[in-house]
Amino acid sequence: MHIGFIGLGNMGNGMALNLLKAGHSVTAYNRSPAKVDALAQRGATAARTVADACRGDVVQTMLADDDAVEQVTLGPGGVVASLPPGGIHVSSSTISVALARRLTAAHADAGQSYIAAPVFGRPEAAAAAKLFVIAAGAPAALDAVAPVFDAIGQRTFVVSEQPYSANLVKLSGNFLIATVIESLGEAIALVEKAGVDPVNYVDILTSTLFNAPAYKTYGDLIARKSFEPAGFAATLGLKDVRLALQAAEELTVPLPLGSLLRDRFLTLLANGGGQLDWSAIATLAERDAGIRPAD
Ligand code: NAP
Repeated sequence: MHIGFIGLGNMGNGMALNLLKAGHSVTAYNRSPAKVDALAQRGATAARTVADACRGDVVQTMLADDDAVEQVTLGPGGVVASLPPGGIHVSSSTISVALARRLTAAHADAGQSYIAAPVFGRPEAAAAAKLFVIAAGAPAALDAVAPVFDAIGQRTFVVSEQPYSANLVKLSGNFLIATVIESLGEAIALVEKAGVDPVNYVDILTSTLFNAPAYKTYGDLIARKSFEPAGFAATLGLKDVRLALQAAEELTVPLPLGSLLRDRFLTLLANGGGQLDWSAIATLAERDAGIRPAD
């Protein structure tokens, strides 16, 4: 397929490379051009504008947040203005339910299709084509972009015909991961203050009661205090908790733990931790317990 790819960040770079490896023709655009040049050396065609990346069958975006997706999609010379009628926009960013609804309507007005395809998995999974794709949209468009999902992920789950529902599922998943990070941070602070080795402790937990990827990945990062470089920055973690709370408010669903987590992220950001991995909110439990940070 001829695929445009926009957004070569921690996640997008690996995804675009895997589209190339699967034999697709990829035309890539990134706001900072150096990342495009690096991908061009691996076989991509460099696009110097968003419009240049919108001339194929499909354009996939993997941008940071609502503002970025809104600018790139709805702005002048953006995806809606540039994609031909019948074209498909696969949007893999973690964005709000409200924006997903607006994008669905804007693409429909332009005779195009909008697929929401947020993903579970960190940059290592993106690089290894092991993402889980959470997809929603019109069945014909989903069928047409199945080769894209096959190239970037290990499994695709279709949620419904309404694109926003995939975003809601994704946000609910990140909300749950954030609760795991917070509770792991508290439990590790408890045993660590008593002199138990945190790495051994996480091994015990994840080999017995909590044998699941979220506990293994984040337990290891927290026990080893490995928060840099960020696989998923705390600023993005705050964004996702905020978006989950927004969606919950629209649906009148209280999320008391979400409110707590929002404040945890704000505390981390207020203390200069915005670019640390989001699992660094676990350091707040240590601080509360009077555990001195390691030098
Ligand atoms: P990232 O490394 O910060 O990359 C963000 C990308 O968005 C970069 O290409 C950046 O361009 C671009 N961008 C930001 N603002 C822009 C703007 N105003 N106009 C145009 N381009 C803009 O983020 P990431 O970790 O790849 O995450 C991307 C998305 O995937 C986010 O929605 C995130 O929540 C989601 N996600 C992340 C993970 C993870 O573990 N990292 C996992 C699943 C989902 P520049 O290079 O010019 O800055």
